[in-house]
Amino acid sequence: MALVVQKFGGTSVGSIDRIRNVARRAIATQKLGNDVVVIVSAMSGETNRLLGLAHEMVAVPDAREMDVIASTGEQITAALTAMAIQNEGGDARSLLGHQVKILTDGAFTKARIKTIEGSKIFSTLKKGEIAVVAGFQGVNEHGDITTLGRGGSDTSAVAIAAAIGANACEIYTDVDGVYTTDPNLVPSARKIDRISYEEMLELASLGAKVLQIRSVELGMKYGVRIHVRSSFSDAQGTWVVPEESAMEKVVVSGVTASRDEAKITIRDLPDTSGVAAKLFAPLADGSISVDMIVQNQGHEGATDLTFTVPKGDRKRALDILRAAVPEIVGVNGEQIQFDDEISKVSVVGVGMRSHAGVAKTMFELLARENINIQLISTSEIKISCIIARKYAELAVRALHEGFGLSLPPAERAGL
Ligand code: ADP
Ligand code: ASP
Ligand code: MG
Repeated sequence: MALVVQKFGGTSVGSIDRIRNVARRAIATQKLGNDVVVIVSAMSGETNRLLGLAHEMVAVPDAREMDVIASTGEQITAALTAMAIQNEGGDARSLLGHQVKILTDGAFTKARIKTIEGSKIFSTLKKGEIAVVAGFQGVNEHGDITTLGRGGSDTSAVAIAAAIGANACEIYTDVDGVYTTDPNLVPSARKIDRISYEEMLELASLGAKVLQIRSVELGMKYGVRIHVRSSFSDAQGTWVVPEESAMEKVVVSGVTASRDEAKITIRDLPDTSGVAAKLFAPLADGSISVDMIVQNQGHEGATDLTFTVPKGDRKRALDILRAAVPEIVGVNGEQIQFDDEISKVSVVGVGMRSHAGVAKTMFELLARENINIQLISTSEIKISCIIARKYAELAVRALHEGFGLSLPPAERAGL
């Protein structure tokens, strides 16, 4: 007998019929002798609708009230799913974040889970009921509702699986696993049978939204066996697991594009010590996370500095810099230039640790398509390039084909 967590994403609970399917699957899993905890997202489109209502009311809604609204989507599906299970002859109870007690910090709209109490879930299971938990939501120490950031139900599921010691955490979604790139963008993408936590973490961080980043971090930290699979079939999906030696044979495992960054350049900075510290301190104080940073070699005592920030923070970043360091960026910020129309394309693979030449091949493949590379950053297992947004899809296709990812791993040519 096993303890299984099953998480169903927005499309998988997108209609009454689909919720009935979820109920049947949960009951079937229980009938095999398992204890089952179901985590549900809001119906697809619902969270966007709710956030849209808030923005219709006021341009910049209060974050606490945003979470009160945003969390209702999951409240509805939790109750509907419990009803559907009862209607199919099973027993079920819905539980909201505060009822389980998913305790988070107080960062509304992007809260992080601190602890999860297992007792309410265990007492529900003990009665033979399926516990249906509303994903995406938690509660802070003052009893306020919080939410975990977009895509946060994945994190609810993995965190609950870790907290109750589940044997597996199944993530049911609208594709049948993790692919070499977004299969909705590149039809020749291939399903990956097993992927390491580290690779999955990079893919998620670099734009593959199939799992929320934090869920992979928690999975890695607590060794949760994550199985990403389709809610529309019984096919095996992708297992996210610790790194295995065979994985190193595959040099590039996946390609991603993200459109969430903006680029800021500050021209003619004094080429002296302390300037970068003065620029980045106020940004850090404003909780703006800076990603890529490139500083050019100084010329005649001056230099240029370019960096990327989340697109949603770009305007605030400029305001902060103008206010905090006018002596560096110009009183009206005239030394600052920005570009919101960029994209970050990346290739990821643990095999890069032991293979040289991946960067060279990536640059050649982009050059062949006449795509100009604006910024480059690397880590042990990934290479990212900032390019003009309009070329993002072309770049993903070119890299996917160029690295042979539409072929089975064994048939891919060496670099
Ligand atoms: P859910 O609502 O079930 O959480 P999401 O929309 O959050 O589903 O995530 C699934 C989507 O992730 C897929 O429909 C697909 O378009 C996208 N995706 C992006 N990159 C990948 C990838 N490498 N593999 C699989 N899916 C991906
Ligand atoms: N409903 C939330 C969202 O749309 C959480 C999730 O689906 O995982 O972001
Ligand atoms: Mg999701």
